[in-house]
Amino acid sequence: MEKYDLPLIKNEYDIVIVGAGPAGSLAAREASKRGASVLMIDRRKELGAPVRCGEGLGLKHVTNMGIKLSPQAISANINGARVIAPNLKDDIIIKTPETKGFVLDRKVFDKDLAKDAGRAGAEIAVKCEAYDVIKEGSAVKGIKYIFNGKKGEVKAKVVIAADGAESVIARLAGMRDATSTLYDTDYGFEYEMVNVKLQDNGQDYSDLIEIFFGREWAPRGYNWIFPKGPDSANVGVGIGGLEAPNAIHYLHKWMSADGVKHRFAKAVPVAYKGGAIPVGAPVKEFVMDGFMVVGTAAHQVDPIHGGGIGLAMNAGRIAGTVAAECVKDGKTNAPALNKYKEQWYNEEWKKFSKRLMLRKVLEKLSDDDLNHIISNLDQKDIDLTLAGDFKPVVQKVLLKRPQLLKVLTVLVNL
Ligand SMILES: Cc1cc2nc3c(=O)[nH]c(=O)nc-3n(C[C@H](O)[C@H](O)[C@H](O)COP(=O)(O)OP(=O)(O)OC[C@H]3O[C@@H](n4cnc5c(N)ncnc54)[C@H](O)[C@@H]3O)c2cc1C
Repeated sequence: MEKYDLPLIKNEYDIVIVGAGPAGSLAAREASKRGASVLMIDRRKELGAPVRCGEGLGLKHVTNMGIKLSPQAISANINGARVIAPNLKDDIIIKTPETKGFVLDRKVFDKDLAKDAGRAGAEIAVKCEAYDVIKEGSAVKGIKYIFNGKKGEVKAKVVIAADGAESVIARLAGMRDATSTLYDTDYGFEYEMVNVKLQDNGQDYSDLIEIFFGREWAPRGYNWIFPKGPDSANVGVGIGGLEAPNAIHYLHKWMSADGVKHRFAKAVPVAYKGGAIPVGAPVKEFVMDGFMVVGTAAHQVDPIHGGGIGLAMNAGRIAGTVAAECVKDGKTNAPALNKYKEQWYNEEWKKFSKRLMLRKVLEKLSDDDLNHIISNLDQKDIDLTLAGDFKPVVQKVLLKRPQLLKVLTVLVNL
């Protein structure tokens, strides 16, 4: 009988990817498909676990990335979003193609994405942590790692840092702004719970993600109920980084508030999840000689709701494609790799920049303003807002609340 040996890490690959989250796996899949030799490493023993995510993902991201979701990767199908005002009474229900999607099981989803990368030809090493980069002058030439307790080095024509919110690789490579400032970082904390009431006031919300605003329980952020089954959900809070130590306090305060507490009267937690999310602008430079940064490590996260799975996958897809093409052309310096940044800006920046502005506006609104706005908007206003046409909506709000002129005019000029 032949002896089975664990795959060894070779001395050299075309592309080495640090981090096997959505960004890393998409980069690995696309680069491998184009014939590059790829190694993807992750420090986790099991990809996707532990989960640190609300697990909401829009359908369009799945379709655009050519992903076939396995039934096990889907906890719930989502048909829209319900946004609840700070008074916990007024709400808006939004059902558009944009709000169709899923609450995932990321333990399955992340592993499935990595399997797709493996099937495309990428080598994968789990329980393998990168602790430094190998540099020659300004160029990155590989990484140093610890694999199963042993130190090693691997060379690469391109290193892709896809190591998420706590990214150290981009900083070690020399990207100064890779660490998000506290102001531009949100902190999310959630319970996965069973016995959550997904129906309220005779309405069934089990196919909607619910987002609750209110400075009292989510300063500079929001609370959420993301259904994961008929009676289970991720129940969480996302708040500004300065308030991070009080996240559990705020979550419990909201869960105990009149107007919502009956939904959790019998709820019990089965998991406890939390983590940081950069919500500012993306890092300035996406590439250096022989180096790229993608996904949350590059701060490619929606500044309003902190969703980053879709943006991470798209950045990984673009970076993996460009890296493989550059390897083929024998040119992996920064100007060649920069095609990734150009393409990302072409595809994402128009929407991303508007959402950065909208985040600043939301920060300035009081609970009273939000109560007023949410109780006055209808489906048509929501459609216009989602399409980026803020002008008519702002005019409508200002009619009854002219004191918001200064705060809201920025949206009219977008
Ligand atoms: C509480 C919370 C709720 C969220 N909810 C949502 C949501 O509902 N929807 C949504 O779209 N987004 C959500 N996000 C954001 C989303 O989780 C991330 O944006 C997304 O996972 C980014 O993917 P990524 O591949 O860039 O990074 P990650 O998924 O973080 O993957 C990075 C990988 O790199 C590995 N790694 C890190 N350092 C090293 C190293 N030195 N060596 C080897 N491996 C390393 C990690 O183990 C990890 O597997 C949430 C985030 C938090 C914290």
